[in-house]
Amino acid sequence: MAPQSRAVQRIASAREVERETDEASRSERQGPRGPLDSAPVTRLRETRIRDNVWVWTLGGETMATSYGANCTAVLGWDAVLLVDPFITPAHARRVERALREKTSLPLRHVVLTHHHTDHALGAGWFAARGKEVVAHRACRDRMGVEHPGLVFSRRCEPEVADLFRDAEPYLPSRTFEEGLTLDLGGTRARIIHPGHNHTPGDAVVHLLAESVVVCGDLVSNGYHVNYEDAKVKNLERGLETLRALGAGAYVPGHGPTGGIELLDAQARYHREVREAVLREANADAALDRVRTVFPDHLLGAVLPSALAAWRSSEQSPDS
Ligand SMILES: [Zn+2]
Repeated sequence: MAPQSRAVQRIASAREVERETDEASRSERQGPRGPLDSAPVTRLRETRIRDNVWVWTLGGETMATSYGANCTAVLGWDAVLLVDPFITPAHARRVERALREKTSLPLRHVVLTHHHTDHALGAGWFAARGKEVVAHRACRDRMGVEHPGLVFSRRCEPEVADLFRDAEPYLPSRTFEEGLTLDLGGTRARIIHPGHNHTPGDAVVHLLAESVVVCGDLVSNGYHVNYEDAKVKNLERGLETLRALGAGAYVPGHGPTGGIELLDAQARYHREVREAVLREANADAALDRVRTVFPDHLLGAVLPSALAAWRSSEQSPDS
């Protein structure tokens, strides 16, 4: 049984409660404000998956909604841990306000599952306020190489310039190689590096007492996979690592939380993409085949790079 923080307001019997919060109006009276906080915004959707664990998403598949990524909060008796607070400080502030509706306990750790900006860049808001940001060493390295240029280029794009106006490149303050355990008082989070799967610096968060795993983009539920930094031959093994943890709930990087069936579905997706690359005569035919099998996966722009990753993997035994 997960510990119940004194500061957590109990929600009647339902184990899982989903609700939508209108942050646009709430931001008028709560929390620190900054650019964009008064702009019309997409609703922040909240799912309570345990008494002390919440998942938020803005849904959708654009930068304005952090590509529908998930942000997870865990409350212990002493402190709060956040995972992947979205793509910009404006989004992170919305998470902060939603969190403050639940508890006044201090935010002690922000964990990044990998360096992709929809998971890592928003945490700069907390880093700038002295909060500890935890990431794998390779995640930190890639942030240092990629984020300054990405922030600069997005500030130059008229459609998203406002969103990134106060985004700043930063580096995590604490790194690890194999893993580490974080104590929140009454509950602990094991941070595990599953090897190079989705990216070189992947981390997954195992909440032992809650039987929850926060998977980052090792798992996407009903959403495409961005393979551009993946080591595709390790993906199956990464899913087996998650399966071996035997959790009751898996929080994917994108899409709704589920059980172990999410891992099966993800393995099938990888297999189908690989088969399409190997069996179809050209890229268009392969794309058509994947779209036919997964019509709802918001395949968008990343599928061509996905096929390229699998094709180069087949040609190079080390990739
Ligand atoms: Zn990613």
